[in-house]
Amino acid sequence: MTDSADLVVVGGGTIGGWASVFAKAAGLGRVVVLERGLVGMGASSRAAGIVRAQGGTPATVALGGWTVAFYRGQQAAYGTDSGFRELGYLILAVTDDDERAGRERVAMQQGEGLDVRWLSREEAVEAVPTLAPTGHRGGSFLATDGAIDPPRNVRAYSLAMQTASVELRERTAFRGLRLEGSRVVGVETDAGPIATERVLLTGGPSLREVGRLAGLRIPAGAARHSVAVLEAHDSFSVERLPMVFDIAAGLYWRLEEGGLLFGWSDPDEQPGEARSIDWAAFERWRERLAGFVPVTRDLGVRRAWCATIDYTPDHLPILGPAVTPDGDRIDGVTIASAGGHGMMWGPAVSRVAVDLALDGATSLVDVTDLGLDRFDAEGRSRLAADPIALPFPATAD
Ligand SMILES: Cc1cc2nc3c(=O)[nH]c(=O)nc-3n(C[C@H](O)[C@H](O)[C@H](O)COP(=O)(O)OP(=O)(O)OC[C@H]3O[C@@H](n4cnc5c(N)ncnc54)[C@H](O)[C@@H]3O)c2cc1C
Repeated sequence: MTDSADLVVVGGGTIGGWASVFAKAAGLGRVVVLERGLVGMGASSRAAGIVRAQGGTPATVALGGWTVAFYRGQQAAYGTDSGFRELGYLILAVTDDDERAGRERVAMQQGEGLDVRWLSREEAVEAVPTLAPTGHRGGSFLATDGAIDPPRNVRAYSLAMQTASVELRERTAFRGLRLEGSRVVGVETDAGPIATERVLLTGGPSLREVGRLAGLRIPAGAARHSVAVLEAHDSFSVERLPMVFDIAAGLYWRLEEGGLLFGWSDPDEQPGEARSIDWAAFERWRERLAGFVPVTRDLGVRRAWCATIDYTPDHLPILGPAVTPDGDRIDGVTIASAGGHGMMWGPAVSRVAVDLALDGATSLVDVTDLGLDRFDAEGRSRLAADPIALPFPATAD
């Protein structure tokens, strides 16, 4: 092999992109990113941009908190940014059970140092004046949550990669690993092999396939997720209006250029690649949105799209070494997935992945339980699912 690298990163999405920048900053010489298409063309450029530190477990609170701090510091560190703006986030309770679970969650999050609080129905309407006064029971609120602009994030990590002299190879597909015993010594690509002792596998909704190419079984799923943007209205021509998540239904909304962006995942969705917008589902979610935000009832639709989102069966990230289906570890290979939360956890997931790839450990979050070895042969996790997530399919098949 004439070509070599200190680290090969598979996938030029937000996870692989930021990881390559962090690897260079950590002192690695030659970092190569393999992207089978164009940088950002996976889930990363099509996301809705919601960023929250209100996680459902201590680990996801830490990943979200680190990521918000990262977005805030981008201008100083990189001279560019992902467009983060603080809006606040209200995670709404609709039923008694939602409220009970929400209040318990707030206690856990406060214990982790988040300045989150529970808002009564009246307080929620005061914080979000466009919210209907009935049909909910208030919710948890964190003023420092917000949103990024996903295409701008792709631009930000692309510029940072260029500045850091990361070698980005677009239109170059990863085909597999070269091993000597249990250790990686190179990767196969459709443009020839690269010698390396360190590989980071990402892939978002394609991670399962990337894993298969590497001889691994990664229970990472892919499903349709849909987003629409409504036309501008006076109620939304404000600098700041908190985002809202109707957690029981998996419907969320936020400001977007004077209008309202809303996104949804259908709990009955079958796993697989997103092919087209389900307009009947769009009407149902739009109707539900109008129940919470009456002013949206007669607004026109500015644009709508669906795209393939990544998920994991327990809604948690996958961060850890490569482990074969027989339970053998492949030294030098690290796996990183944000499990459908790459805008809110992505940079932290990338940071942890680089720590693991370089040092085998990280101080950012306890990753003991987040590796591939938490899944059984059917892809079932031994961990309880993160309770704050979209209603993704229950298995990755
Ligand atoms: C519609 C939608 C809305 C979303 N909204 C939000 C949100 O509001 N907040 C949030 O936190 N998250 C959101 N997400 C999820 C978020 O976008 C993803 O979690 C994140 O982008 C995943 O990043 P990634 O780098 O792992 O994957 P990707 O961005 O998909 O990148 C993986 C890359 O790997 C490449 N690749 C695959 N196979 C190979 C191969 N063999 N060789 C080389 N390259 C390969 C692909 O081409 C791709 O570019 C949303 C997703 C969608 C689809």
